[in-house]
Amino acid sequence: MKSLMFVKPGELRFDEVEAPTILEGTDALVRPIASTTCDLDHHVIADKTPFSGFGPFPLGHECVARVVEVGPDCATFQVGDAVGVAWHIACGSCAQCSIDHPARCLKHGDSQYGLPVNGMWGGTFDELVRVPYADYNLVKLPANVDPVHLASIGDNLALGWETVMPSVEGIADPKVAVFGGTGSIGLYTVDVAVHCAAAHTVYFDDDPVRMEAAARLGAEVQHINDKHDKDFHVAVDASCDPHRLRKALLSVVPEGTVNSVGIYFDEVPIPLLALYQRGVNFHNGKGMARPNMTPTLAAVAEGVLHPELVTSGIYPWEQIPDVLTGPDAGHKPIFVLGDQ
Ligand SMILES: [Zn+2]
Ligand SMILES: [Zn+2]
Repeated sequence: MKSLMFVKPGELRFDEVEAPTILEGTDALVRPIASTTCDLDHHVIADKTPFSGFGPFPLGHECVARVVEVGPDCATFQVGDAVGVAWHIACGSCAQCSIDHPARCLKHGDSQYGLPVNGMWGGTFDELVRVPYADYNLVKLPANVDPVHLASIGDNLALGWETVMPSVEGIADPKVAVFGGTGSIGLYTVDVAVHCAAAHTVYFDDDPVRMEAAARLGAEVQHINDKHDKDFHVAVDASCDPHRLRKALLSVVPEGTVNSVGIYFDEVPIPLLALYQRGVNFHNGKGMARPNMTPTLAAVAEGVLHPELVTSGIYPWEQIPDVLTGPDAGHKPIFVLGDQ
């Protein structure tokens, strides 16, 4: 089969590799219907991460797929099912998985698709993907929705839910700030904040395309350098920019919540005294995907969420290397794999 390899910054190629097989009874094999980039992938390709020196490796950890084979101990899925695939490899039953922390799975640690961390599990730009613990790591897609726009459900799209919904619980008339910059995560967050949390949502950025998308999703849009309110119940830093992180940290009400989903590879100064005086609950860490995929898909099926407004382009599979290394990859390019 063909596998998309990250070779080095600015260079991707399809390699012919051995197709995965069922190794454990709980495995499933899936063939992507559509795959997309996590915002992090763009940074890998652009040489902004430590991963950029580890090529070649299979890239990609977001896809929706069709089940093509199941192991004998796989109870939930059948050949032909359309599924979302979580980015993480998690057992689903250890002490961390049991409390909805699959990204901290005690059996598999940092294992995931599409990056060279804790083993090689292939990438979601492969023509066939092995899914361990398939009953846990897969989720059935709603039948009434075009699966293509759900390509991000296993990571960035579910992260929108995770960064907003638990944090606004119990707050009447929530006000949410989203500091964009990484690509799609801030926009999925806006979608959830506006449509699921019914929050007054303000999106800050300087990219006209993303700002327009945020406006279409129902956010009030402001330029990142505009003077902004400091009475948000929840602020989401989806920027990877220390200046925007600082703005997010200082934008919430006393005892407000700031969730940062951008990844900082360098140390970043934090205004701790100001945070102490204000009282800020700050969370920074990997998205937990699996527990958030189910409510996100339910909201899409009900017509509440609109991930299609975040998609920046839909392309045939063959164009993955050219689009992703080209001058305008877009904030959420989705690639469709044809039948055989
Ligand atoms: Zn990711
Ligand atoms: Zn586990």
